[in-house]
Amino acid sequence: MKPESGYISIIINTQAGASSNKLTARKFIEYLHHKNFKTKIDYTESLAHAQELASEAAVKYDCSMVIVAGGDGTIREVVHGLEGSDKPLMILPCGTENLLANELGIKTSLKNAISIFESEVIRPLDLCKANDKFFTSVGGIGFDGDVVKLVNDQRKGNITHLHYFWPIWKSFWGCNFPKITVEADEKTVFSDRGIVIFGNISRYALGLPILQIADFGDGLLDICIYKCDSRPALLLHAFMTVIKCHRRSKNVIYKQCKKIKISSENLVRTELDGDPGPALPLEVTIIPQAVKILVPPQGKPVGMRRRVFRIFK
Ligand SMILES: [Mg+2]
Repeated sequence: MKPESGYISIIINTQAGASSNKLTARKFIEYLHHKNFKTKIDYTESLAHAQELASEAAVKYDCSMVIVAGGDGTIREVVHGLEGSDKPLMILPCGTENLLANELGIKTSLKNAISIFESEVIRPLDLCKANDKFFTSVGGIGFDGDVVKLVNDQRKGNITHLHYFWPIWKSFWGCNFPKITVEADEKTVFSDRGIVIFGNISRYALGLPILQIADFGDGLLDICIYKCDSRPALLLHAFMTVIKCHRRSKNVIYKQCKKIKISSENLVRTELDGDPGPALPLEVTIIPQAVKILVPPQGKPVGMRRRVFRIFK
């Protein structure tokens, strides 16, 4: 990227995450100015506003690329706004969990941001859609839908990992494991009590490798269905996932496909990228190679140990 290629649109969510990451974003902007890049900085007022700003940047002939500083929600909206554009997107992660940034191997240091910007390694990123809602990373039905609902109900501004403790505890003891029916590419693959996780990245919250072989640019959705009707079964699934053996379990169905349909006769909550998702029935599809994204050279997903360590840092 050269200064004469055009200005850089920078979309910032000031509400998101830790202050140290915001400092990195500010220092990176100083670096761009120091290197004579012209920037247009916009602060988001809402998620819809983030999408609008990205859509505007996508059609501006003199805009060379877009940078987003925010959490998973803001990043998702910017990806949606940029869909189909050939302008590269760079992420400065500023959220609590940073699912997508962690999957791409993006760290929160200034050094890492500069390295990503200067090396210009670009990869395609698919965008997922569940009914009329877009998401980039992971969706869930059942247990984690309950957790996200509880976190969201008590949410006032920024959240940290601690905000998840009681919702996980309450959902664990309150979960009644309703029957869920799942179709993958028009074939029914499951109709029983369980938990369903689907999406496009290999690492879930805390780096759990649930969708272990997912690739964010292969045009396919990954889905992992845990057959589960009790709390001990849930704990066993969690353990098998931590040690990366869950896909071998006879009580787990793992598929890659282009379309997923999920329904239930019960009230079952859903979540998309850590926000409450639409009510069932759900139809999930994928838009292959929706945007071009800057990734670190030799970047690989951040693992569980490092993510847990970060919480207590
Ligand atoms: Mg994929």
